Amino acid sequence: MEAFATEGTQMTPDKHTEPATDGPLADALVGMGRFLRRGEVSADLRSVFLEGGRAGDVFYRDRWAHDKVVRSTHGVNCTGSCSWKVYVKDGIITWETQQTDYPSVGPDSPEYEPRGCPRGAAFSWYTYSPTRVRYPYIRDTLAELYRAAKREHPDPVDAWASIVEDPEKSRAYKSVRGKGGLVRTTWDEAMEIAAAAHVYTVKAYGPDRVAGFSPIPAMSMVSHGAGARFLNLLGGSILSFYDWYADLPVASPQVFGDQTDVPESADWWNAGYLIMWGSNVPVTRTPDAHFMTEARYRGQKVVTVSPDYTDNTKFADEWVSPHPGTDAALALAMGHVILTEHYVQKRTPRFEDYMRRYTDSPTS
Ligand code: SF4
Repeated sequence: MEAFATEGTQMTPDKHTEPATDGPLADALVGMGRFLRRGEVSADLRSVFLEGGRAGDVFYRDRWAHDKVVRSTHGVNCTGSCSWKVYVKDGIITWETQQTDYPSVGPDSPEYEPRGCPRGAAFSWYTYSPTRVRYPYIRDTLAELYRAAKREHPDPVDAWASIVEDPEKSRAYKSVRGKGGLVRTTWDEAMEIAAAAHVYTVKAYGPDRVAGFSPIPAMSMVSHGAGARFLNLLGGSILSFYDWYADLPVASPQVFGDQTDVPESADWWNAGYLIMWGSNVPVTRTPDAHFMTEARYRGQKVVTVSPDYTDNTKFADEWVSPHPGTDAALALAMGHVILTEHYVQKRTPRFEDYMRRYTDSPTS
């Protein structure tokens, strides 16, 4: 325990005279502290008195100082979209705290608050991290091939063609994908290669052979709109970002005609039986996970489908652990049983009504 003198003053040490009572070994250990931090130590070794003001506090005062507070969230493809108070000083994010002004859900459900997760709480540290990628990178094999090609073919499209039409060169840069070896390049070179590749593909195969995606609209409509419009004007094919991220099931919006996570997570609370499949809810849906854990207090049965003992498995009544890569077979088998028992062997009105109203199944 320490007592600090205030700026410009000197505190008079409390004159404890009683010896420490924790035994000689404890006394020796506590006494060592005086060598680690210089100051006047009380006789019972319980206090260290320091002189010289509060200079040590300055770092912390600066760290937590701010000029204004703004409301924001973390638009990094996180569907949590939690509301945060962001404290800003000199235009720099200094720290964040969770907003606490969500409207009430009502008396029959847990509230949304508090929303947030440890990643969000540390977000300002990501924003200014020195390890953040801020420049374009290129795999060194491709960089060497392209720079050599440019020396022979000043036109970028010709240079690109000389690489992709040469089986050996083409194999050389494709075979090292996924193996690292990225080096920094310039924006000019990165854009030149991307443009040359597009022009080459359009010339050689037609514009509809260019397939791409644009970032999820929830992240930024500007970036999504720019990419979608580019492909649209080019005559290319726009794919769902789900195809690329593979973090949510493409089948869900295709079958149900709605965004994924249907219904929204507060409704997990109303379910009597919940299967968690393809989402490690406490980790990937942290601000919503409480609806699931709270529902368990009123008897909700929870099943997880996961090859490994994930964080959400510890909440489950049943843990189904298929071998990695076989969960599609498991889902098809479950669908087969349901259709066999409620559609092929006998017709169940409630099942058919559900299929007609909520799916695109061709029931008749
Ligand atoms: S879940 Fe975490 S990262 Fe996502 S918006 Fe909420 S606090 Fe931010």
